[in-house]
Amino acid sequence: MAKILIAGAGYGGLTCAVELEKAGQPFTLINKHDYHYFTTLLHEPAGGRNKFEEYKVNLHDVLRKESSKLVKGVVTGLSPQENKVLTDKGELSYDYLILALGNAPEYFGIPGMAEHAMLLRSWDTARKIHEHIEHMFRMYRDDRDETRLRIIVGGAGLTGIELCGELAEWMPELMATYHVPAEKVQLINLEAAPTILPMLDEGLRKAAEEVLTKKGVQLRTGTAIVKVNENQVELKTGEVIDARTIIWTGGVRANPLIAAAGFEVDPRGRAKVNEHLQSVDFSNVFVIGDSAWFTGPDGKPLPPTGQAATQMGAVAAHNVLRIMKREPLETFTLNYMGTLASLGAEVGVGNVKGMKTKGVSAALMKEGSKLKYLWQLGGLRLVNKKRGQLSSRR
Ligand code: NAD
Repeated sequence: MAKILIAGAGYGGLTCAVELEKAGQPFTLINKHDYHYFTTLLHEPAGGRNKFEEYKVNLHDVLRKESSKLVKGVVTGLSPQENKVLTDKGELSYDYLILALGNAPEYFGIPGMAEHAMLLRSWDTARKIHEHIEHMFRMYRDDRDETRLRIIVGGAGLTGIELCGELAEWMPELMATYHVPAEKVQLINLEAAPTILPMLDEGLRKAAEEVLTKKGVQLRTGTAIVKVNENQVELKTGEVIDARTIIWTGGVRANPLIAAAGFEVDPRGRAKVNEHLQSVDFSNVFVIGDSAWFTGPDGKPLPPTGQAATQMGAVAAHNVLRIMKREPLETFTLNYMGTLASLGAEVGVGNVKGMKTKGVSAALMKEGSKLKYLWQLGGLRLVNKKRGQLSSRR
């Protein structure tokens, strides 16, 4: 029987595994953790909405067939020329590989960023951000160092803006707990481009700006960070801001293992794939999600999103099955559902299926998309297991 290996259990890898399991196809899935976390929602627990445990599912709760082999391990290298994946648990060989290793931070060579900024990229880092900010407020009680109350978020894409919305809602709670006057707290978003959320139209952007400004976020567009020191950012204007919390949400690139393995890559290190999601270099390797360089019918490379990764995962699974049955392969086309940005628990902006939405309705749609995703992974069983845990401020 053909050996199928999936590397990574993010949105793409796990969806692929679920589809293969449904089809009764055995496979091996290697992942760093024995759980899957909801990457696009990590700003919520980072800012104190809900418990952290609600933002991950155990892989064994999703993949329950004995024929689905789960390996908890870290991929350390790829050798597509030899059909092998190198891991900290030894080499794994395959006939078909689905590479779903996600992304890495894009630092654009900004000195000090990697060393001194925190990232919102995994369940662990979301937790670190949350604990760090609370620790800063606690320490302020003792030393009255006001840089402890200044939070810098670098980048106003979806990650940065959603995080700011969530942190802004948490601030009043922290101020009350640690007896900090509101005027001492500063939540600053620094964005190099002239606008926040460039993927949304001007009306929605303005709505988001209004909501965030009202919540106390200082939005500074046209403001590039050029250097980061310990507890300090330097701006292109020459201005220097001291802050004990610096979070970088300035963009992502592909997992560096891809370029290192000799795949043809784009400037963001993503492996070029054909319309069936096969690597153009190795046809038995499917590359999906944030590490895939897929060019849509409009000639533009697809941006890295959770919805694209999920849909790619399903198509990659179908195509592996089709190859084995000698059937023609499925062509990947993104079914674009829209973009929703939450601005705290009860407000959002975005467009869904071409319709603009803002306010409570956008926030409710975002809640709905969480349930839909759980349903896709594990049906009613998983929805019930997690239901009631969602959307309650802890
Ligand atoms: P991004 O690349 O979309 O945004 C990063 C922002 O940082 C940009 O606006 C950029 O101009 C800014 N920036 C870059 N260098 C800077 C500098 N030196 N100083 C100040 N600002 C700087 O990154 P992201 O928000 O992490 O998103 C990554 C991908 O994930 C995107 O494709 C996004 O659509 C997707 N995503 C989707 C959702 C969602 O659907 N809700 C949530 C999060 C991320």
